[in-house]
Amino acid sequence: MDAAEILKTYFGYDSFRNGQEEIVRSILSGKDALAIMPTGAGKSICYQVPALMLSGITIVVSPLISLMQDQVKALNEAGIHAAFINSSLTEAQITKAMRLAAEGRYKIIYVAPERLESALFMQFARNGKISMVTVDEAHCISQWGQDFRPSYLKIVAFIDSLPERPVVSAFTATATREVKTDIECTLKLQDPRVVVTGFDRENLYYSVEHILGKRKDAYILDYIQKHADESGIIYCATRKNVENLYEKLDRSGISVTRYHAGMDNDARKKSQDDFIYDRVQIVIATNAFGMGIDKSNVRFVLHYNMPQSMENYYQEAGRAGRDGESAQCILLFSVQDVMINKFLLERKEFEGMDIDDIELVRQRDTQRLQVMEGYCKTTTCLRNYILEYFGEKAAAPCDNCGNCHREYYEQDMTAEAKWVVNCVTETKGRYGLNIVIGTLLGANRARLKEIGANTYRSYGVLDQRSETDIRLLIDQMLAEGYIVQTGGEYSVLQVGDIHRLRAESTHVIVRKAQDEEETVKRTKKKKTDSLTGAGFELFDRLRRLRQVIAKEAAMPPYIIFSDKTLIDMCAKAPTNQAQMLAVSGVGENKYQKYGERFIQEITAFLSENPNAVVSTQIDEEPAPVVKKERKAEFYLNREDAERFQYAEYYYISDIRAKLNQVCSAVNVKKVTLSAIWEYLVAAGMTTEEQGQEGYRKVQTERGLELGIKTINKTSQGGFAYQLLMYPETVQRMIVEYFVGSGSEVK
Ligand code: ADP
Ligand code: ZN
Repeated sequence: MDAAEILKTYFGYDSFRNGQEEIVRSILSGKDALAIMPTGAGKSICYQVPALMLSGITIVVSPLISLMQDQVKALNEAGIHAAFINSSLTEAQITKAMRLAAEGRYKIIYVAPERLESALFMQFARNGKISMVTVDEAHCISQWGQDFRPSYLKIVAFIDSLPERPVVSAFTATATREVKTDIECTLKLQDPRVVVTGFDRENLYYSVEHILGKRKDAYILDYIQKHADESGIIYCATRKNVENLYEKLDRSGISVTRYHAGMDNDARKKSQDDFIYDRVQIVIATNAFGMGIDKSNVRFVLHYNMPQSMENYYQEAGRAGRDGESAQCILLFSVQDVMINKFLLERKEFEGMDIDDIELVRQRDTQRLQVMEGYCKTTTCLRNYILEYFGEKAAAPCDNCGNCHREYYEQDMTAEAKWVVNCVTETKGRYGLNIVIGTLLGANRARLKEIGANTYRSYGVLDQRSETDIRLLIDQMLAEGYIVQTGGEYSVLQVGDIHRLRAESTHVIVRKAQDEEETVKRTKKKKTDSLTGAGFELFDRLRRLRQVIAKEAAMPPYIIFSDKTLIDMCAKAPTNQAQMLAVSGVGENKYQKYGERFIQEITAFLSENPNAVVSTQIDEEPAPVVKKERKAEFYLNREDAERFQYAEYYYISDIRAKLNQVCSAVNVKKVTLSAIWEYLVAAGMTTEEQGQEGYRKVQTERGLELGIKTINKTSQGGFAYQLLMYPETVQRMIVEYFVGSGSEVK
């Protein structure tokens, strides 16, 4: 059989996905391979298919027991002989598995890295024919990865000790440059074929909701009510949060379980199984949960708190929608989350690392946290934010994320900003956010009287404003450096660089989301939406049948068939073997095991509902969704342009504010920073440069000649960064550009 036939026969898929075939071919030609693919892209197929075609055995090194067990179950279901050898087995079981392995019983053997050192295993590996060593979750070998495992370093010695070097393939979902280099070098890959597939997960809808801590529970309750029957994960930053939320949801009668490192092994195992086997709808967990959870029908991942890094977030959120169906990833953000995370990072333990390394890792942690905070606060496309972080060139806004769907309006809050500075000055930089906000609002709190804040000049000056507005303003001022927030447990606000605020031309612009109600929700259609009422009934019946079979076989339901496969089954309504084998995800072995029962169920359904049209065409374009009237892209007319106030130097945000200020056209969008930036890049004045600390915006030769200069700054976290300032010549070019682009708009 060739690779395509194996894919169809064993796994039931008609074609390889992007990147898979390249990896398979490389392995079969004896060339090492490194695949960097996002979660859900289908990495396992890349080594499982060639493993079946190579003459000897494939050893897969994998970091987690649950991950191995799941993979082996799925392989056995597909009719492939596979086994795992790890500490969950007894000595007797291990001996038996090794004996069978030596007899050539298994094509694929999963092991934990520690096992590679055991004498028994070494002996087996030297005598048997090992065709390939596959390293799964290969980023674990890198100290710069987010979960470094020293035992991964033993893999190389193991490979070197084999009589004949097998082909080596490595897989990961972590795409940063350092990690990639580390994998190639540390694993000593030989001129590997490197395949990096896109990190975009089109079926995932991302959004960030800014919610006060105490209102998060209500949000979640409401969300779950609107998504009854859907499987989901809720991540919390701490065990305590997990416990509290669990209590609440459980009391409200929701089908829920919990998972964190403070529970004993059995309780954790039970929680995980209940979730995987669809016995409970929702799991609330810390980040201890999830590695190796291949459950494909997770429809939402909510984050109760902001995670510590984009890598973590991408991985955790990525557990949604592995079947390719629409799923939602929603992060509930409140200001306290940043504090919690700083606190957690301060407590982080660094076992067995040098002082220098610890310092470096600490710095990276802080930077990662800042990137994550940026995600929570950006008002531009969330998907692009993620993709840019992972080094992909962002395209146009995605139109499938919370920020793309939200309408924003801008408020000039310069006057209020000056009062914030006055207030912080009056506190002498001794108090935190809550005191400052309370003072400005003129709140009647004992604590304010105690410290004498009620006698400040700034007391109550902003009492016409809402607390939310003032928080947004302070966020914006922190971002622009007018005030700074100290780190540590008792974080206080202090006056930053307010020089610019004195200039007449400076404006502090706060972007605020339009009310939720006004925002039109335009989530992508789910595939199940293409089922008719009758189709949905069938889907439900097939799902129940799957549940029954899963129980009999003591197997997670999604390993029997994924949701995607069931939906395809409803659409095709197969009533014979050939039709059934044409359903995506139904291979020979699974057909033998379950095909008949599903055909019976479908036949019974069709005879009870002779007129049922089971599905509307699945591949048709989704029905047009209701959109708000689209605004035209930003442009200026000649008169507007003439009102633009030039200055010797402006930051890009000043230029944006000025452009928006002079624009008189109605029903056009506000100009964005990225639109201006894109022009600057296209005109060859600026560019993005990748340095050690990630991307930096810099001027080109031409930009330097035109007078663009760099200003050095330090953020509240002590993180040094640079801002570009643009001279009048460049300001004029930008204005001209937007007048120019206006000529295309009627
Ligand atoms: P990863 O390890 O990259 O996170 P998996 O190997 O778990 O991803 O695959 C994700 C899902 O995609 C699984 O349900 C898998 O069966 C499915 N899949 C993989 N390759 C294909 C393919 N070529 N066609 C259809 N589905 C596929
Ligand atoms: Zn978007």
